[in-house]
Amino acid sequence: MKKTLLSVLLATCPLWPSAALAADGSPSSSSPTLMVAEHNALLRRGATDSYQIVESISAGQQVKVIDKFQNAAGETWYRIEYKGITGWARADDFSEAHVSSAFPNVMFAKQDSLLRRGATDSYRSVGSIPAGQQVKVIDEFQNAYGETWYRIEYGGVTGWTRADSFSNQPPSMLVGKRAVIAANDIAMRKGASPYYPVVKTLSNGDVVSIIAEFTNSLGEQYVRVEWAGVKGWVKTEQIYIPKQLPTLLPTFMNVVQSSPVRRGASVHYRAVATVSRGQSVKVIDLFVTNGQELWCRVDLGHVRGWVSEKVLTMSSTMSVPSGVSDTSSVSGQPLTVSVSVANVRQAPSLKAKVVTQLKKGTKLNSLSSAKDASGALWYKVSLNGKTLGWVHETVVTKSYLSPPASQGMQKQVTTTNAALFAEPSLSAAVIERIAKNRTVTVLKTTEASPFDWVQVTSASGKTGWMPVFEVKAPSYVYVKQAGTPLRRGASSNYQSLKALAANERLAVLYEYHGWLNVETSNGVRGWVEESSTSTVALNSLVEPTFSTINDNAYLTWKKTSNFRVSYSLLPGNRLKITGSFSYAEVPSTDIPGIQTVEWTGSSLLITFEPGYTFTLRHYSDRLALKILETGLKGKKIIIDAGHGAHDTGAIGPGGTREKDITLDTALLLKEELERAGAIVKLTRSTDIFLELSERTWIANSSDYDAFISIHADSYSRTSRGTTTYYNVSSNFNGPKSEQLAAIVQKHLVQQLGTYDRGHKTQNFYVNRKNELPSILVELAFISNPNEEAQLKTKAFRQKAAVGIREGLEEYFSQF
Ligand SMILES: [Zn+2]
Repeated sequence: MKKTLLSVLLATCPLWPSAALAADGSPSSSSPTLMVAEHNALLRRGATDSYQIVESISAGQQVKVIDKFQNAAGETWYRIEYKGITGWARADDFSEAHVSSAFPNVMFAKQDSLLRRGATDSYRSVGSIPAGQQVKVIDEFQNAYGETWYRIEYGGVTGWTRADSFSNQPPSMLVGKRAVIAANDIAMRKGASPYYPVVKTLSNGDVVSIIAEFTNSLGEQYVRVEWAGVKGWVKTEQIYIPKQLPTLLPTFMNVVQSSPVRRGASVHYRAVATVSRGQSVKVIDLFVTNGQELWCRVDLGHVRGWVSEKVLTMSSTMSVPSGVSDTSSVSGQPLTVSVSVANVRQAPSLKAKVVTQLKKGTKLNSLSSAKDASGALWYKVSLNGKTLGWVHETVVTKSYLSPPASQGMQKQVTTTNAALFAEPSLSAAVIERIAKNRTVTVLKTTEASPFDWVQVTSASGKTGWMPVFEVKAPSYVYVKQAGTPLRRGASSNYQSLKALAANERLAVLYEYHGWLNVETSNGVRGWVEESSTSTVALNSLVEPTFSTINDNAYLTWKKTSNFRVSYSLLPGNRLKITGSFSYAEVPSTDIPGIQTVEWTGSSLLITFEPGYTFTLRHYSDRLALKILETGLKGKKIIIDAGHGAHDTGAIGPGGTREKDITLDTALLLKEELERAGAIVKLTRSTDIFLELSERTWIANSSDYDAFISIHADSYSRTSRGTTTYYNVSSNFNGPKSEQLAAIVQKHLVQQLGTYDRGHKTQNFYVNRKNELPSILVELAFISNPNEEAQLKTKAFRQKAAVGIREGLEEYFSQF
């Protein structure tokens, strides 16, 4: 390849984003750069492989590069910030975060940001985006100052905003919040894994402050909390955020600190009553202020008002304040008349008028309940759907249907926010919170609408009631559109608790009149309209199909939308496919050459049988895995002779033209490969001119397995040696290209006896725009009179062809 001044500069600084990292390898003071791990990478304490590993980064993860360093071995290492950890990783494993391949892309505002007409701060603002807001990124642009800006669609307006104010991770929902410990004997540890020592044991109901959030290398989510001055880590599933109360309202909480009850949800409102320490109060509503402070509306019987959530704690006992008129719903509770004649009254009082009488054994449905002045409980009842009036608690019994099968059965709690109630009613007092995966013993089941209840005994020995959905295998739905509100109640009149992300997976608890009561993956409960959800994930790999096309076996997945996909090669003949999809179907039948196809919940893991390898192609609508038997026989290879016609390429001091050397070597290589049983296509077989885009078009529109571009290098009279280039930042087949480059370089140098300049990443068009495993070989320096003389000999070119053929043979013989 002919070297211009620009390409020499590029070779010094091939992939680094222009402004953020200085070309001379010195640490840069500019803003950090977002990069993406091209391979699984290791984060170390220092910038060589001998330093201790502090974290591992999976391929496809986005990281923040904050510095760059060239170590004594000449390797470039990046200082990286990832999940709150700072360390060093090899620069080769990362490329600039390019979201362009998968626009539109959902991102989240890390801070309040302005939307502008153009991609610099001098443009006028056309809107503002609040912190935490999810937006659609439709384009990306690097302005003259080297800043990356995103083109964003938000609230119906399109504009530009600084990329560094956005993250592809949703903002933390937990840091800064107060949480309640959800079970007894919860270990608070020194670090975020079960191997760290316990610094404190917390009990059910302890209120903690969340300082940080962290997902450890086992994928376990932890929060760092503070309790009475002690700091440590607890598993996220073991805490309960009071803000998530809404769907459980009304509920009873205990007052931990005497406090005025105010007319509104702020200290500026006047006090209407006082609550005292130890008092149990009924919480009927919640309100989050602009300052993210949570206030609870309490019903004290004679008066209602607001108190800060800070003065309340979850009741750990069933405490029902006396004299409280309870008009909340106990809907669905079946009742049976237990006396020969029961009076049904107009109101919950023995003084109220009798509206009708019912015979013993009549089955009723309770709509709500209330207590009278003496503390006796009354039920508002209906018969065959018709509301009758009120019955006294002494004239009815609760009908519990107890299927024998479920009695005494051990069940695991499948939800995050399960509560044990004193009665089979969401308005009953909460006895205990039970963490996910804890076991309960089911005593009996009662049928009710809209869901059944189970009576259970918890691990701590408490008996109470839980909705049956807390112990059922969850069924999931996926949010169709970003921004769909999760509401407090089953109607669009209710306040939105949060905006859901597109394709967010929700566990369905129960259905009510076209609305679903759901729990999000981080335990928030609320309501969504059933029509705004889908039972299939939107970004998925579906319908895996095995077929034979042009004598090759393929396993092909359909993509439900055009999302990003990448892959990495793992030991043990394993191919790991990751990307911005949330689900992948696995084939139901055996696929020849493949041992297993697994969906791990975050990646598609394919294990090949020994003796098999693959070529993977990624299209906008599908992913095609070509399953290949190892060996060169039958493999389809494109050979690209560099330059041609008026584009002579570099010219040596003796007048040798690069375009002639490349064409002759390509023709020799074609013979070599065909003799070994490979199928070969040449981009040019005569002295014609081809645009670079025509060369990659030939590759990308083909069903071939590899692309080899042949060049001769040119720089100075003293430059020498052989180099093989590949691209990982743009080429989907970066991992395979790197493998191919390393192997071909090894065999080329062995055959040619030239100086080994190594295999290197580069941004050459024919590799960058190629979708096949693709390399570019620089055989030797035509600018060096000695190497020019070698390139001119047929023997040298024949050796080059043999070296490349041997490289391809080894490449196709391994996984
Ligand atoms: Zn060239």
